[in-house]
Amino acid sequence: MAQPQQIVTRIAPSPTGIMHIGTARTALFNWLFARARGGQFLLRIEDTDRARSTPEATQAILDGMRWLGLDWDGEAVSQFARVPRHAEIARAMLARGHAYKCFATQDEIEAYREAARAEGRSTLYHSPWRDADPTSHPDGPYAIRLKAPREGATVIDDAVQGSVTFRNDQLDDMVLLRSDGTPTYMLAVVVDDVDMGVTHVIRGDDHLNNAARQAQIYRAMGWAEPVWAHIPLIHGPDGKKLSKRHGATGVMEYAEMGVPACAMRNYLTRLGWSHGDDELFTDAQALEWFDLSGIGRAPARLDLKKLDSVAGWHIAQMDDAALMAEITGYLALTGQPALSQTQHDRLARAMYCLKDRAKSLPEILEKGQFALTARPISPDAAAAVHLDAVSRGILRELTAQLQHASWDRDTLEATLTHAAEAHGLKFGKLAGPLRAALAGRSVTPSVFDMMLVIGREESLDRLTDAASRDG
Ligand code: GLU
Repeated sequence: MAQPQQIVTRIAPSPTGIMHIGTARTALFNWLFARARGGQFLLRIEDTDRARSTPEATQAILDGMRWLGLDWDGEAVSQFARVPRHAEIARAMLARGHAYKCFATQDEIEAYREAARAEGRSTLYHSPWRDADPTSHPDGPYAIRLKAPREGATVIDDAVQGSVTFRNDQLDDMVLLRSDGTPTYMLAVVVDDVDMGVTHVIRGDDHLNNAARQAQIYRAMGWAEPVWAHIPLIHGPDGKKLSKRHGATGVMEYAEMGVPACAMRNYLTRLGWSHGDDELFTDAQALEWFDLSGIGRAPARLDLKKLDSVAGWHIAQMDDAALMAEITGYLALTGQPALSQTQHDRLARAMYCLKDRAKSLPEILEKGQFALTARPISPDAAAAVHLDAVSRGILRELTAQLQHASWDRDTLEATLTHAAEAHGLKFGKLAGPLRAALAGRSVTPSVFDMMLVIGREESLDRLTDAASRDG
């Protein structure tokens, strides 16, 4: 039996300075599709625009890919480095009669369009050089243009959009190689995709028109066309084209907000793709379920509330070590100091009581502040009001009682409840001073959780510090 062809997908971002979430989602779809099928996922940097393609802009793409965990096979390909190859193909097309030399100058083309406009004709340029006898060719600079079919239609059989027809009389003889010898984008994409063995072109539907032109190059050269899959773009919640005013458009902005990468993958996967009613899923499930048939034809809408709930679900079910790794990455990314060993150990121990309702990494850090802070703890204003003279007296007594108590939840609960009752108080009344002493805050995890996480010695030291405060 013939070996089924190996699937090869790619992401081909133009470096613009950030990695847009649309690009991230396209990369993710390509990655899921290839990875689940034992295929290859390639990265090509479309860096032919030399003004924009700085090393920093390329780095921003690599950073976005790495943060999202989208590993690519082999080295990233630079489109610019392949310019000689693109030119070679343009010349091969010329030699085979699929393209022709066009000696028209910019001014002549402009004049043609002006005249067409004035006469109310289509401004699509029809070069007089298409059928010119080569003996009439001048000895001057020329562009190489595709000899595109004039009649009939170019039909793109798209895995998402269905069959899309483009009338050939509305497509001009596009330039493949400019008169200065530089290849056009349209040619470069096709040559690169062919040379890279790309079998599936999955990208934004803003490239659907390009697919028609690119298909003409494939067909002229007799190359096997890839499967086309043009995904609707991401829109804002109001249905308009996504822009800054809808929220962050760069994927790293989400990293900086403290969205865990696995949650971002889940969220982006659901943006324009569905599997029944499943909203929350793991990477393994996404890999198992993802298919082009699940991509919708309507633009997906960015919904930051939903992202919150997706992030909350992932945080709650992630294992503690993975969360600690996410937090370490988040602190480094946002330029915050790394955790000390003690902070790391305490936070890891506290994770069970922090991750349940947190929707982002900074929320975990905020809730886990008691595990990160060091003595002497200065209570904030809301906490300080709980440390009046009476409360300090109770804390002092409690410290003595806890000196020899065994350090487990039952004993701590019994001891603290008993201490409250001895003063005719409900336990809740004691919680305020305890939170103030242990965390310096009035909103914290339960006092038992805090005491168990930081341990006897640190707990008693913090209680002693608070009991002996002035004021
Ligand atoms: N460089 C193009 C972009 O960033 C993508 C080209 C393609 O996927 O064919 O939009």
